[in-house]
Amino acid sequence: MKAAVLYEPNTPLIVEELNLSSPQPGEVKVRMAAAGVCASDHHWMTGDAQGPMPIVLGHEGAAVVEEVGQGVTRVKPGDRCILSFVSSCGYCRLCRTGSPQLCDTAGITGATLFDGTTRLSKGKTPVYQMAKVGIFSEMGVVPEQACHKMPDAVPFEVAALIGCSVTTGVGAVINNSASRPGSTVAVFGCGGVGLNVIQGAKLMGASRIIAVDIYNHKLEFTYKFGATDVINSKEVDAVEEIKNMTGGGVDLAFDSFGAAITTSAAVNSLRKMVQQY
Ligand SMILES: [Zn+2]
Ligand SMILES: [Zn+2]
Repeated sequence: MKAAVLYEPNTPLIVEELNLSSPQPGEVKVRMAAAGVCASDHHWMTGDAQGPMPIVLGHEGAAVVEEVGQGVTRVKPGDRCILSFVSSCGYCRLCRTGSPQLCDTAGITGATLFDGTTRLSKGKTPVYQMAKVGIFSEMGVVPEQACHKMPDAVPFEVAALIGCSVTTGVGAVINNSASRPGSTVAVFGCGGVGLNVIQGAKLMGASRIIAVDIYNHKLEFTYKFGATDVINSKEVDAVEEIKNMTGGGVDLAFDSFGAAITTSAAVNSLRKMVQQY
């Protein structure tokens, strides 16, 4: 079975044969069908994100179930699945008290399965699985908790994006306690996550959604997702422009890019607001 392996930062991914062992209880063997490429993968390649290596990157994908380990009830062979990069164990204190996004077990076990080991190896060397999945591979063994069955009508390449960029972007808006219908929203960075923040703001019923990027072709595309206004921050001061457009600033600002310059611009484009819970 072939996979793309990263041995150390600032080296290319190497496509090579790896061994894949059988699914253990609670695990699922899958055949990868589509993968998305996210900036988080690149952060591992540059060394900005650090963790155990060698590792198979890739954390947004869709797959078909080949085989299930003992006790698996969520999926069966032949099921088409979205693979989640934030599988939560379901049994730790935080999972059991309604905060699976803070799962202790997922945090501790990182790029291994929930028992702390991986199912991939090269000779005797274990190969880690980014976010417990490692999508840049022909096949994989993943936790049952990472598998989300989907209808046959959803194309694999669409489903793959729901594994990270769609849920990250839409979730950032609709799970935000400050989100209200009618809110004004600014979105800095209009890549995969930014577009989905825009989509989330549209679903939430935002009255104005201002997309900010440095590329006009990306800004044009944001209208398809619900942007009402666009700003090219290479041409104008985005913070000034947002304040002028909204009479003092937006209710919500999102930085999907994650650099100091975009984070400070996002904060500076907000109006004052008293948070009400
Ligand atoms: Zn991602
Ligand atoms: Zn947990």
